[in-house]
Amino acid sequence: MFKDQIHFMHIYDARLISCIVCGSVYRDPCLTPQSTLESYRDDDYHDDWLEASFEPYCRLFLSDMPRLVHQVGRDARVLEIGSQVGGFQFAAKQYGWDVRGLDIGTKMTQFARSKGLDVYTGTLHDIRFSDDEFDAVFVWSCFEMIPDPWSELLEIHRVLRKGGKLYITIPNGDFIKLVHRFIRQKIAMPIREPVLKLLAYGILLGFSFQAGYSPVGLNYILNQSGFSRISVKNLVYVPVTSAKQASQKVLEEKERYLKIAHILSEAVRYLSLGRRIIGPWIEVRCERF
Ligand SMILES: [Zn+2]
Repeated sequence: MFKDQIHFMHIYDARLISCIVCGSVYRDPCLTPQSTLESYRDDDYHDDWLEASFEPYCRLFLSDMPRLVHQVGRDARVLEIGSQVGGFQFAAKQYGWDVRGLDIGTKMTQFARSKGLDVYTGTLHDIRFSDDEFDAVFVWSCFEMIPDPWSELLEIHRVLRKGGKLYITIPNGDFIKLVHRFIRQKIAMPIREPVLKLLAYGILLGFSFQAGYSPVGLNYILNQSGFSRISVKNLVYVPVTSAKQASQKVLEEKERYLKIAHILSEAVRYLSLGRRIIGPWIEVRCERF
């Protein structure tokens, strides 16, 4: 069966539970690490979908590269974990970075290699990079799928040089909790439909992840894993849809919904003096200590 962006892990029903200490959200029951990896490894994607996704992802990351080069530096050696179709690697190469990628998906990595990108098939632990090998590591929208985040972060810490940067984008556990509680309330009825649309456009209608980290929860595990100078920001995200995959009207509506969500979450951040980050997706940036 072919899968699209919203069909990663919808293979069984589960409850959502929330940690009372950090607020992160988890599936209960969750898959074992081994069965999680197996389910991603065999993911199959239609060639047309891969091809149609490549160009919009390249465009998205090309527009972000000036910021990343400014923060990481020129001539950097970098790694992307969960490199998918290779849009980030393509953009990083254009800006002169020496970039490696890895992904567990066999079909994904074959596709990325066909675009001339340097991609491994497997997990970070399989590959055994050298100590201090990279100036930066990027985990764009896949950290939430990693079954053992603690051991993954230890390994990222080992392959990053001291002061090297780590970027992670994830769905925000705080947003997921807030919205899923809200839409069950009576007062939510009049705006239930637009809220559901926002969830669908943000690929958060179902919970297809291993974990929905709250900013506090992710901050904690990063800190305990030897990362410092941790900053969290709201993201206007992320799920890329090409003109071949949806009509112009739908694309425009999607953009409008995600923009409104971003403006509202930025207003909350501003009014709470930076303490409340409630956007649907967030970016976390930190440094190896
Ligand atoms: Zn917790």
